[in-house]
Amino acid sequence: MIKQILPEIFRIEVPLPGNPLKATNSYLIKGRDRNLMIDTGMNRSECKAALEYAFCKLEVEPKRTDLFITHLHADHLGLASFIATDTSKIYFNEPDATSIYRGGFWDFASEAIRKNGFPETILQQAIDNHPAKRYLVVEKLPFTILGEGDKITVGNYRFTCVETPGHTHGHLCLYEEDEKILISGDHILDDITPNISYLDGTENPLADYLASLEKIKGYDVDLVLPGHRRLIEDCRRRIEELKQHHRARINEVLAALADGPQNAYKVASKMKWDIVSDDWDTFPLMQKWFATGEALAHLRYLEVKGVVKRKTDAGDQIVFTLS
Ligand SMILES: [Zn+2]
Repeated sequence: MIKQILPEIFRIEVPLPGNPLKATNSYLIKGRDRNLMIDTGMNRSECKAALEYAFCKLEVEPKRTDLFITHLHADHLGLASFIATDTSKIYFNEPDATSIYRGGFWDFASEAIRKNGFPETILQQAIDNHPAKRYLVVEKLPFTILGEGDKITVGNYRFTCVETPGHTHGHLCLYEEDEKILISGDHILDDITPNISYLDGTENPLADYLASLEKIKGYDVDLVLPGHRRLIEDCRRRIEELKQHHRARINEVLAALADGPQNAYKVASKMKWDIVSDDWDTFPLMQKWFATGEALAHLRYLEVKGVVKRKTDAGDQIVFTLS
């Protein structure tokens, strides 16, 4: 479905069948010489068809269109190489570009999540079904790297890049100061909450995310154009809700650990999730993966705060306890 949001700004709902996200919001901004498309959907036929239809319907030529990708996930970056022509720029960020091309991610991820209690019996199946494995094109793309404060002008709009790490390390939003529009990618969503995930290492993505929410609170925003679901008029209200959501999550993690030492997979099984499922056993496979990563992000946050401690047992399994 294509909808005009503002003069020359169109939202294209790119369907994600079978995915709880339902659709990616791709935005097309028509300019005088060049157009700008923000985010693309996954590398799958339903998404390609939606974009091809939109280009046709909006009478937009791919060779006069540049791309801005908010972050590395397959539902945003997946069709960049399909849309981009050799005259298109693909604006992206350095940390996410480095992550994509570093290599070895699946070895790292499977080892990290296995050590945190994810059952061996379903591990390979989860990796094979991971959207990044199935729907992301990893061929080397000629990115034009942008960072904090960099500008993109399209038509009458002049956007400024805002670094908002948390959902991914390099996530970028775009802010239009005159119209007070924020293109938020997966940093701020309504109806659903962005997945904040941690597997291993020295990072603290939940702390980064909360700091990025505070940062955006300082911007004067009349309309948020998010990467999924509906547009948001009251940005600060939603930021407060997202902060409250993570406070509640932290309390769930602490309540789970009050039962004694346990691994992140077990903690995830005790948290409340907005997924239709009778219990943890019937929880969808991929959602178990994302839930474990999200539980770990909260455990890591509490560990850095000194509230929670981790211990690695003789079998190389990590368990968390209250300090
Ligand atoms: Zn994402």
